[in-house]
Amino acid sequence: MLIVKKFGGTSVADKERIFNVARRIAEDYKKGNEIVVVLSAMGKQTDVLLEMARNINPKASKREIDMLLTTGEQTSVALMAMALNALDIPAVSLNAFQVAMHTTSAYGNSRLKRIDTERISVELENKRVVVVTGFQGVNKMDDYTTLGRGGSDTTAVALAAALHADTCEIYTDVEGVYTADPRLVSDARKLKEITYDEMLEMASLGAGVLHNRSVEMAKKYGVQLVVRSSLNNSEGTLVKEEVKMEKMLVSGVASDRNTARISVIGLEDQPGVAFKLFNHLARHDVNVDIILQSVGRDGTKDISFTVNEDDLEEAVATLERHRQGSLKCQKIDVEKEVAKVSVVGAGMMSHAGVAAKMFEALYDVGVNIKMISTSEIRVTVLIDDIHVEKAMNAVHEKFFASQL
Ligand code: ASP
Ligand code: MG
Repeated sequence: MLIVKKFGGTSVADKERIFNVARRIAEDYKKGNEIVVVLSAMGKQTDVLLEMARNINPKASKREIDMLLTTGEQTSVALMAMALNALDIPAVSLNAFQVAMHTTSAYGNSRLKRIDTERISVELENKRVVVVTGFQGVNKMDDYTTLGRGGSDTTAVALAAALHADTCEIYTDVEGVYTADPRLVSDARKLKEITYDEMLEMASLGAGVLHNRSVEMAKKYGVQLVVRSSLNNSEGTLVKEEVKMEKMLVSGVASDRNTARISVIGLEDQPGVAFKLFNHLARHDVNVDIILQSVGRDGTKDISFTVNEDDLEEAVATLERHRQGSLKCQKIDVEKEVAKVSVVGAGMMSHAGVAAKMFEALYDVGVNIKMISTSEIRVTVLIDDIHVEKAMNAVHEKFFASQL
């Protein structure tokens, strides 16, 4: 079997953990598998490097920041190859340049375009474990680029796709994907399987186990993922196209506090108003989420929507700038202390009543719903963020109590 194994920063944070990982790799290698390992930088090294950059020059160019950040992964792969060698396992480390992992030009947030597999294949034929830097690539100027925070997952999936690997294992410090964040919901349990689509919804809702783009890529190329713990041997969670096991109505409850609500009050009730509003925001790369428009009255209407809290300032500034011009309104109202709580499940496509059940759970604990949005496999509500924990537990219990 050809196996791609990705280990995150905590899994390689120090000597002991590096050897833990090396021993696991050695086990699979000795069984006759071909192994490609993808690593993140050790521990919080990426943050440390970012802080160093800020300290020298708060306005450092993205090119130089990428040049710096890529040293983090380069350190961990070299040390891992050394550790494997110390265990008498032949291994070689390769960075993005040596493999040739080609990306788009954008520093700090590039996308993988193509991976040359020749060098890796030759090394595998020579019976070496190949240890590859995650998170980085090379653009057409032959400069290093990075794929965005958490990007090593995407490197692993892309390599698995390019090499036609039999499986792609993502090792992390949790045991898999859970029905809810175990830090918030003590009854949360590990899922055996989850679909790509559910995982994408969960990831974008703040269940930070996998990089979103890695799941998109896995879906596109049909790469089966396994999320499992680097600390023990428990089974983990399979991420795949369809799950055939117990068809659960809902597979998880997720929350996201990093959200804010903006209401634009007293807009003209005319064609093109929503277009103008959201077009201005799109031009400034502000992603909007839940959108709610009121019924028009006296020739005016209100539009409310949520944005990521990091984009709030930009969003409000953009709206204020256009307020006197193309976007006449009476007031712009902002609320930061809000959070999203969502239930996600492929099962709800064919079952009625999921939304009602969720709303009932919130009613039971006296939590008021401010906004609602749905997709085929998700129901999201916006609530006051002080109620997140209470709401999560109530909703989780409603859907999962009978299954525990
Ligand atoms: N080291 C990078 C980060 O901290 C990439 C990764 O861990 O996936 O974001
Ligand atoms: Mg990660």
